[in-house]
Amino acid sequence: MQTKMLINGELVTGNDAPISVLDPATGTEIVAINAASTEQVDAAAAASHEAFQTYGQSSPGERAELLTNIANVLQENAEELAALESQDVGKPWPSALDDEMPLTLDTFRFFAGAARTISGVAAGEYVAGHTSMIRRDPVGPVAAIAPWNYPLMMAAWKMAAPLAAGCTVTLKPSQVTPLSSLRAAELISSVAPKGVVNVLHGAGRNVGNQMINDPRTEAITITGSNQTGAEAMKAAANQIRHVHLELGGKAPVIVFEDADIDAVAETVRYGSFFNAGQDCAQPCRIMVADAIYDKVVAAVAEQVGQIKVGAQRAEGTEMGPIVSAAQRNTVAGFVDRARDHCEVVSGGNMIDGPGFFYQPTVLANVDNTAEVACTEIFGPVVTISRFSDEEEALRIANSGHFGLASSVWTKDTGRAMRMTSKLRYGFTWVNTHGVATPEMPWAAMKSSGTGCDMSVYALDAYTAVRHVMIAHG
Ligand code: NAD
Repeated sequence: MQTKMLINGELVTGNDAPISVLDPATGTEIVAINAASTEQVDAAAAASHEAFQTYGQSSPGERAELLTNIANVLQENAEELAALESQDVGKPWPSALDDEMPLTLDTFRFFAGAARTISGVAAGEYVAGHTSMIRRDPVGPVAAIAPWNYPLMMAAWKMAAPLAAGCTVTLKPSQVTPLSSLRAAELISSVAPKGVVNVLHGAGRNVGNQMINDPRTEAITITGSNQTGAEAMKAAANQIRHVHLELGGKAPVIVFEDADIDAVAETVRYGSFFNAGQDCAQPCRIMVADAIYDKVVAAVAEQVGQIKVGAQRAEGTEMGPIVSAAQRNTVAGFVDRARDHCEVVSGGNMIDGPGFFYQPTVLANVDNTAEVACTEIFGPVVTISRFSDEEEALRIANSGHFGLASSVWTKDTGRAMRMTSKLRYGFTWVNTHGVATPEMPWAAMKSSGTGCDMSVYALDAYTAVRHVMIAHG
């Protein structure tokens, strides 16, 4: 198993204490991996800075070629990478290979094309005797930090856009789930110039903290919790740096009386419990019009009751374990605090035995102001609550501090348009939830983050708009 980090083109063992990596389905150690020492984090920052002097001058075509080569080398090893991901995070094996890997690879392929779209506006004479032009240049070395829920896909989102923009990248995957990123680092080292991509291993509070505070880091990009986002903002404030954040969510699923109830229930079964619900866009806060409330609760309960929970490779597994004991305790705490104030329609308990399994859980009759309705749980739990009309649905959905994903379920196009125009979320689906494509932004509003991943708009975080003026003389 590849457990070395990538620093300046070399695969190196960490010089700091090992961190245990567990299989969430058994709770046993897969491997212990040494973290980066302070000197190694410093070496990665130096390598990134040095490599930027050359890579920052590369042509869009050269960057496109690098991104295509990365996509190709990852694709050639997709089964191995998906196997690592599945074991490390507890994902059902077919899901890791067939659901996540295609988008991970396509992200690199999309940004290979996007690299060649970067342009400023047309030149012109805005002052007599002077010609102005606009350039969009790479901001510089990027510190990229990823979470544990989709380790390789998040690494792709954090790396591909800055590389397309001409930035060098130092990536730190979550210390909880580093396996796929470390193997990807080895593969990437076979196609990338030294120092253009560095990959470190270690905890956020030391390795991550040092990365985002290094003076050579010109931009910080983090996908993670709001607390970590706040730390990144502080680090960026200290040095006045670009910062791009994709943080937590609490996605409302707003179901009107004319919605297709079966489609809602099937989407909840698949979307809310995909990756054991550990998804920032998870359709988790189901809000239902009074008129069809009972029917939706029954349909959702019926679908969720059929979910087969099991280990990654067990036949028919639809949902795996939660990533860690700590995360399972967090999820259980939310449900335990809520159970006296709502109806536990399905699940609601840990599953006995080895590993960190939790039952797919549906809580109904949840008050719209309850903790479980307003706070990100990040586990296999959905809440169902009521609303009376469009205005109330909007008010409830827009009242929280999150603003990532949302969905509206109705056959009335006018209502769908009114709702989508007023919902304060980075993205809103109508009559579906969770469908992602690299062409479209994964965007955030309010405290769910700044800017977006994917799409050509992601390049904004990694490029500086510059003015060059030439006097005619
Ligand atoms: P986390 O914030 O605990 O960790 C994320 C990463 O940040 C890890 O690599 C961690 O080591 C690092 N980190 C932690 N403290 C740091 C610090 N002080 N300085 C630098 N780095 C630090 O989040 P997590 O538990 O790994 O992931 C779950 C969270 O991520 C949830 O809130 C979820 O909603 C969010 N998430 C958001 C998106 C999105 O696109 N908006 C996608 C996936 C996950």
